[in-house]
Amino acid sequence: MDKQVRVRFAPSPTGALHIGGARTAYFNWLFARKNQGVFVLRIDDTDRARSTEESYRQILDSFQWLGIDWDEGPDCGGPYAPYRQSERTEIYRSHLQKLIAEDKVYPCFCSAEQLQADRDEAAREGRPPRYSGRCRNLSPEERARRLSVGDPHVYRLRTDGGGETVVHDLIRGDVVFQNSEIDDFIVWKADDSPTYHFASCVDDLAMQITHVIRAEEHLSNTPRHVALFEAFAAEPPVFAHVPMILAPDRSKLSKRHGATSVSEYRDMGILPEALVNYLLLLGFSPGDDREIVDRETAIELFSLDRVAKHAAVYDVKKLEWLNAHYFRAQSPDVVIDQIWKQIVHLGYVAPDEVDRHVLAWLRTVVEFVQTRSRGTADLIEGMRPYFEPVTTYDEKGVRKQFSDKATPERLRAVAQRLAGVAPFTAPVIESSFRALIDELGLKAGQLIHPVRLALTGVTVGPGLFDVIAMLGREETCERLATAANRIDAGTIAAQ
Ligand code: GLU
Repeated sequence: MDKQVRVRFAPSPTGALHIGGARTAYFNWLFARKNQGVFVLRIDDTDRARSTEESYRQILDSFQWLGIDWDEGPDCGGPYAPYRQSERTEIYRSHLQKLIAEDKVYPCFCSAEQLQADRDEAAREGRPPRYSGRCRNLSPEERARRLSVGDPHVYRLRTDGGGETVVHDLIRGDVVFQNSEIDDFIVWKADDSPTYHFASCVDDLAMQITHVIRAEEHLSNTPRHVALFEAFAAEPPVFAHVPMILAPDRSKLSKRHGATSVSEYRDMGILPEALVNYLLLLGFSPGDDREIVDRETAIELFSLDRVAKHAAVYDVKKLEWLNAHYFRAQSPDVVIDQIWKQIVHLGYVAPDEVDRHVLAWLRTVVEFVQTRSRGTADLIEGMRPYFEPVTTYDEKGVRKQFSDKATPERLRAVAQRLAGVAPFTAPVIESSFRALIDELGLKAGQLIHPVRLALTGVTVGPGLFDVIAMLGREETCERLATAANRIDAGTIAAQ
C-alpha cells in the first residue's frame, strides 16, 4: 500500500505572509486534499532574532482568512508535536548526537577570520569558495581537547564530494548537481542551534513528510538535504519546486509593485475566494482556458505535473477581474456584512440600525450597485448618491439628459407634483409621475432619465420610484430644485 501523503508548509515568521508563500501553501493544501493526505503547518522559527510572535499570528490569520486549513500544526497539535522549530531543539540535538556518534559530522573550530582568509585565497586562485576541510581530519584527541576547553565550534556534515546528486523533481524533472559543488556544510551553529538545512531535514524526516513542495529558491539547497537524508540512512521525500512569481516587468516581485502580502489584499477589499483562485493561476493551468476555479474544483483538477516550470508573472488586472466575479456572485446580505463598519462610519446607517425601511433600501441599493462593482471600494463609491447630497453630475448624462431647454422647468414641475403626493410610497409616486408625463406630452424616458440624474448625479440606478420614496419628499424636492437652479445658472458641470 502506498504511504499516506504528508506535506508541509514551513513559513519563517519574520514578516507577513506573502503572495508567493500563500501560493506555495495553497499548492501543498491542494495536493494533500486531492490525495486524501495530511497538510502540516510547521513554523520555521529557528532564526530567533528575526522571528516574531506578531508575524506568527498574522500568518495564521491570513490562512484562516484564505480558507486554507491544516491537519497538524502549532495551534491544533498532532502526532509529531511540537510544530514550532523553536520548541524542537532537543529533537535536533539528539539527531546531531547520532550523527556525531557515527562520525558523519565533525566539529569545526575555524574562526570567521580564518574562513574569510580561505575564501579570499580561493578567489585569488579562481576556485569556488568551498570549506577547506581543515578540521575534517583532526585526531580524536585533538578534537576532544578543544571541545573540553570550550573552543567555539560548529558541526559540519562530512560529504564525499564525488559523483552527482540527481533530484527527481516532480515539476522540473531530473535536476543534476555535481557533488563537488557541495562542501562540508554547517549543520549546527556556534550558538548551539541547528541550521535551517538541519532542522528542516530532521523535521521532514521525523514528521514523515512524503513530498516537499516549496519555492524554487530552495532547489539549490536540495542536494544538501539529500545528503542529510543519506546521513540518516533515510529515503528523502519527493521534491517539487514551484516556480517564482515575477513582477510584470519580469523583475523580482517586491513592495514597489504594490500589495504583496495577504493582509494587504484583504485590506484592499480583495475577497479570499478571488485570491485563492488567483494563486492557483500563478503557475498552474487548469486547462480548457478555464480561469474561474473555486477551491473544490481546484482540488479535483490539481496535479503537480501541470504546474509550470517557468516563472509566473503577476498580473493585478487578472486578480481584480476575478475579484469582480466573486464579488458579484455574493448575496447582498453577505456584502452588507462586509461593508457594515464602513457605512456606519460614513453615517449611512446607525450602528444598531433597526429601521426596516432603511434596511430594505440599503439592500436595494447594494443589490443594484453590486452588479456594477469590482469590489467593496467601488460599491461604497456607487452607494454614495443614495446616502449623501449630490455634488457632481455625470458629464455624459448632463449632455444627454439636461440639454433640453425645458429641463429646469420640468424638474420643478415634478417637484411640485410630488409635493402633493400622499402617501409617499413608490406605487403612488409612480402613478402621479406617469400622469404628469402624459400631461406634459412626453415619453416616459424624457422625464425619468433627467429626474434620475438630478436626484442621484448618475444615469443608472435602482427603480426611480423606489429612489424617490426612499429619499423622501423633502430631500427629493430639494435635489430637483438644486439641479434646476444649477442648470439655469450654468454651473451644473462645475464641482
Ligand atoms: N522556512 C523556509 C522558507 O520559508 C522553508 C523552506 C522549506 O520549505 O524547506 O522558505
